[in-house]
Amino acid sequence: MTQSIQPVRVRFAPSPTGHLHLGSARTALYDYLIARKTGGQFILRIEDTDRKRLVEGAEQEIIDNLHWLGMDWDEGPDVGGPYAPYRQSGRKQIYQEYGDKLVEMGCAYYCFCTPERLAKVREEKQKSKEPPHYDRTCRSIPLEEARKRIAAGEPHVLRFKTPLAGTTVVRDLLRGEITFDNKTLDDYILIKSDGWALYHLAAAVDDHLMKITHVIRSSEWLPTSPLHSLIHQAFGWQEPVWVHLSVLLKPSGKGKMSKREAMELSGEGYSIFIKDMAKLGYLPEAVVNWVALMGWSYDDHTEFFTMQDLIEKFSLEKLNPSPAATNFSKLDHFNKLHIKELSDGELAKRLQPYYESAGIHAGLPMLEKLAPIIKERIITLDEAVEMTRFFFTEKADYTTDRILMSGCSSEETIACGEQVLNALKEQEDWSKESLDLAVRGLMEKAGKNPRQFLGFVREAISGQKVTPPLFESMEILGKEAVLQRLQNALDYIQENC
Ligand code: GLU
Repeated sequence: MTQSIQPVRVRFAPSPTGHLHLGSARTALYDYLIARKTGGQFILRIEDTDRKRLVEGAEQEIIDNLHWLGMDWDEGPDVGGPYAPYRQSGRKQIYQEYGDKLVEMGCAYYCFCTPERLAKVREEKQKSKEPPHYDRTCRSIPLEEARKRIAAGEPHVLRFKTPLAGTTVVRDLLRGEITFDNKTLDDYILIKSDGWALYHLAAAVDDHLMKITHVIRSSEWLPTSPLHSLIHQAFGWQEPVWVHLSVLLKPSGKGKMSKREAMELSGEGYSIFIKDMAKLGYLPEAVVNWVALMGWSYDDHTEFFTMQDLIEKFSLEKLNPSPAATNFSKLDHFNKLHIKELSDGELAKRLQPYYESAGIHAGLPMLEKLAPIIKERIITLDEAVEMTRFFFTEKADYTTDRILMSGCSSEETIACGEQVLNALKEQEDWSKESLDLAVRGLMEKAGKNPRQFLGFVREAISGQKVTPPLFESMEILGKEAVLQRLQNALDYIQENC
């Protein structure tokens, strides 16, 4: 049996310090997929011990974004569970107790160095080109003495007593054994002077208490992974399987995504934040498909996956540790594919909010009629509104530079337009097929090409450059509106051209 077939317990452990971005969404997705695939549990744990960096509303936004992507969880701050609380701010006492245990076992010590002294140590280390680690002054303070100083109210932190020699080996599922020379490690802080545990201790304790089997997380945690291993070892706990995911690179593939790049992307109609995806017209299905393939593949050719496909096909063994570029044209590509997959009724439902926010109260029956004719033509959902705006306006807006049949005078355009108008007045069968036959017949008689003739009819009924297919649009618009618009166009030419 491979590791991923046994039921896993995995956690997504965001810090509520900002918006959920692609990288975190990917971590959550992989957690979710492996939990669902193996019949295990997916846990949401909010890591909010860094009280200064908390952003109000961030936790709720993360929850909403994960739901939008189609994920749910078995345990979490909002759903409870056997290992509650799932918000680390509710577990301060637990971390204190485990910190004390480490002290008693001789694996941690109290440090009384002031921030000023620490800054000086750092500065000196930097000058002598050494890693800016703590110089371990307080490591030799006898515990009795330290306790007295604490009782007297002296500010202090708790530090891990990292072994001074030897190596620590972290076994990463994707990268194999990574050996760290203990000399290169710091005596990291476990609990700060305000009594709050830092991520390292809190996460290790919670991963143990919550029986986490696999820690799937961003590779930014690789450098401190030996500390996490050492904490587990100090307590004699079994370590979870460590899975450090690939780094996400900026679209050019050169370097990690920076804040500046993120800003530039938003100018191009893209975003790295999940909260923006709906507004930009992306389907959650497409975002999930796209994100899933940033560092995982099923084989070398399958690229279309629904969430259900992913649950069936996902495996940790196929994760790829090499950095992955964030390719937004791929997102467009997946959005197109997933839009095509939606039924007309479903697409109508997904489109409705975009019309509403454009101030167009398009009912679902109308949107359901439009769905099949725009399905193949839009990349993002919001594009539908512009493309079909003329269905919802009283009149089409004309401009003198576009209304005339290309290469034709106003007289010639009017003559052709009148022929169309008169013929369509007599038209009884208003199906797209009959309209197609009738209008093309007139075009041939007039000796015009489609760009000229159909271009004019398109402009006359819509006033738009880009529309869904002409005859389908005419059928949906209806006879009365089409005749009225042809008449309007002729009047406009008479008055303006
Ligand atoms: N709170 C950490 C973060 O947001 C979690 C890292 C982990 O999954 O262990 O990056």
